[in-house]
Amino acid sequence: MLQLRNVETYYGGIQALKGIDVLVDKGEIVTLIGSNGAGKSTTLKSVSGLVKIQNGSIVYNETEVSNKPAHETTLLGIAHVPEGRRIFPKLSVKENLLMGAFSVKNKSVIDQRMEKVFRYFPKLKDRLEQKGGTMSGGEQQMLAIGRALMMEPNLLMLDEPSMGLAPIIVEQIFEIIKELNQEGITILLVEQNAFQALQIAHRGYVIQTGEIKLQGKGNELLNNEEVREAYLA
Ligand code: ATP
Repeated sequence: MLQLRNVETYYGGIQALKGIDVLVDKGEIVTLIGSNGAGKSTTLKSVSGLVKIQNGSIVYNETEVSNKPAHETTLLGIAHVPEGRRIFPKLSVKENLLMGAFSVKNKSVIDQRMEKVFRYFPKLKDRLEQKGGTMSGGEQQMLAIGRALMMEPNLLMLDEPSMGLAPIIVEQIFEIIKELNQEGITILLVEQNAFQALQIAHRGYVIQTGEIKLQGKGNELLNNEEVREAYLA
């Protein structure tokens, strides 16, 4: 479904990605783990078109998407939930969700999608008129994921969905990621919480200073000595 080949991305003179190869097959949960500044977020941004790549290729469902602008990758079915859950704080929950369906004109389709989002996140239904910015961190993360679901993506890219959340909420978010995947959404998950990410992932990649250091099945990486020492300690 998604193939990155030899992708190189720079911020000015700083090379954030030094030629990485990542493959995500349809139906998988694939996780990218690694420490701060390793290049995980940049990988997602390179796919969704938030940053330009200098070299390599990114193919999504047989279409070359490298350096396509973000609104085009969205329309192709790639949803990106950025780090720090960038919801619109001044807009209501409902308005935030509607932003996710910007390309849909048919009201009944929008309503159906919203009902689907409420099945995963019933709390959002009770808070429709509340301003996004007044929700708790966990609720905002749920809203950010809900907004992404409003475009019925085929590929959902999540950047550190567990960041800053209480353990019980983290559990819930990981459960929902698993459910979304079981319903057919392919997931590319960036996490510092390597232990939990590898537990739900089919496969994972360890990224270090812009390069892929290791890759394997989720449980293989969980049991890998190097991974245990560096990321699971
Ligand atoms: P984190 O979890 O801390 O965000 P990460 O693995 O997602 O880590 P990236 O955010 O992709 O890492 O950053 C990769 C490298 O690119 C780092 O060295 C970072 O300092 C640099 N970088 C990221 N964004 C920018 C930017 N807007 N301008 C300059 N350098 C940047």
